[in-house]
Amino acid sequence: MEFSEEQVLLRNTVRRIVAERVAPRAAETDETGEFPWETVKLFFDAGLMHLRIPAEYGGHDESMVTVCMVIEEVSRADLSAATLLAMAATHVEPLRVAGSHEQKQFCFGKILEGDLTCISITEPGAGSDAAGIQTRALLKGDSYILNGRKLFASNGGVASLYFIFASTSPEKRGKGISCFFTEKGAPGLTVGREENKMGTRATNVTELILEDLALPRENLIGEEGRGLHLALATLNLARLTAASQGVGLASGAMDYAIDYARQREQFGRPIAEFQGLQFMFADMATSIEAARCLTFDAARKMDVGDPDVIKGAAMAKCFATDVCMQAATDAVQVLGGYGYTKDHPVERMMRDAKLLQIYDGTNQIQRLIIGRELLK
Ligand SMILES: Cc1cc2nc3c(=O)[nH]c(=O)nc-3n(C[C@H](O)[C@H](O)[C@H](O)COP(=O)(O)OP(=O)(O)OC[C@H]3O[C@@H](n4cnc5c(N)ncnc54)[C@H](O)[C@@H]3O)c2cc1C
Repeated sequence: MEFSEEQVLLRNTVRRIVAERVAPRAAETDETGEFPWETVKLFFDAGLMHLRIPAEYGGHDESMVTVCMVIEEVSRADLSAATLLAMAATHVEPLRVAGSHEQKQFCFGKILEGDLTCISITEPGAGSDAAGIQTRALLKGDSYILNGRKLFASNGGVASLYFIFASTSPEKRGKGISCFFTEKGAPGLTVGREENKMGTRATNVTELILEDLALPRENLIGEEGRGLHLALATLNLARLTAASQGVGLASGAMDYAIDYARQREQFGRPIAEFQGLQFMFADMATSIEAARCLTFDAARKMDVGDPDVIKGAAMAKCFATDVCMQAATDAVQVLGGYGYTKDHPVERMMRDAKLLQIYDGTNQIQRLIIGRELLK
C-alpha cells in the first residue's frame, strides 16, 4: 500500500503517541478494567476521534484507508484503545448515510465536543440474526415509545449519544427495523449490567434497558423500516476496522515474539536460530502481509464505492481476524511458559484477539456473506 505524504505523517504521529502514551498503560488498564478516559482525551486532542465526521460539520472526512492505517498502528500495542477509534469511525455511519442536516449538526456537534457514542443492535434473542430484534418502537402521537432489552452495547455505560435499532413493524422482520438516536439520561433508558469479559478489558460493554423510552419523530434516522440497511452499512465498515485491528494485533504479537526469540537462549543458542521457530515466524509474516493486502484493498474499494466491497470487507474481516488469533496463539507458544504469564503482553493479546473473530459479525457469518456474494 502506497501512502501519501499526509498519511505517512499521520501514521508517524500515531506511532509516537502509541509508544509514549498508550503502550505503557495497556497492561495496567487490562488488569484494572478501568475505562481509559485519559486515552479518550489523548485521541480526541489528536483529532483521531473525528476521522469520519464530514468536513462541513467540522470533522476530517478521512478515507477508510486512512482510518484502517491508524487503527492498525494502535492495535499493535492495545486492542482496547484501538476499539475506541474503531467505534468513533463506524458509529457515525447511520448519520452519514441517512441523517438529516439537523441531526448531523446536533450529533456531530456533540461528538466534536467530546461525547462518546454507542450503537446498539444486539439483543438476547438476536445476535447473528440481527433481523430478529424484538425491541419495539411504537408510534404514539408524535413520539415513538421504545421497549426492550439490548445486550453487548460497547460504550453502553460511558456514551452520551446512543444509536438504537428497534422494530417499528415486527411482522416485517428486517424490513420493519428503524434506527433512532437518543442521549444519556433520557427517561426510560437505563444502563444495565456491565459484561465481565475475557479480553479487551478496558472497554465498556453493557446491557441497555429501554422502558417506555419516548423519542420524538425527529430522532428517527432515515426512513421508518430502513434501519437494517443502516445497520448493515455500519457493519460493513466495522468489518474493515476489525480487519485492521487483526492485522495490527498480529503484527505486534509477532514483533514481540521475534524480539524475545533473539534474546532467549536454550541448548546454548538463541531460540530464534531454531528452524522450527523460524518456520512459525515465516508463516505468521506471510499470512499477516496477505491479511494487510486484503484489508487495504477492501478499504480502497469502500472509498471508491466499488460494490464488490461487501465481499471484500467480509473476506478481510474473516481472514485477518483468523490470522490474528493464530499469530497471537503462536506468539504465546514462542515465549513458552513465560508467554502464559502476565509478565508479557502476548497473554493479553491472545485474549483480546478472540473478540475479533466474534464481534461485527462472527467469522461464520462472514463466510455466509462471502458465499452469498459469490453465488449471486
Ligand atoms: C465485547 C463485545 C462487544 C460487542 N459490541 C457490540 C455493540 O457495540 N453493539 C452491538 O449491537 N453488538 C455488539 N456485540 C455483539 C456481537 O456483534 C454479537 O455477539 C455477535 O454478532 C454474535 O452474536 P451472538 O453473540 O448472539 O452469537 P450467536 O448469533 O448466538 O452465535 C453463536 C454461534 O453460532 C454461530 N452461528 C449463528 N448463526 C449461524 C449461521 N447461520 N451459520 C453458521 N453459524 C452460525 C455463530 O457464528 C457463533 O459461533 C458485541 C459483542 C462482544 C462480545
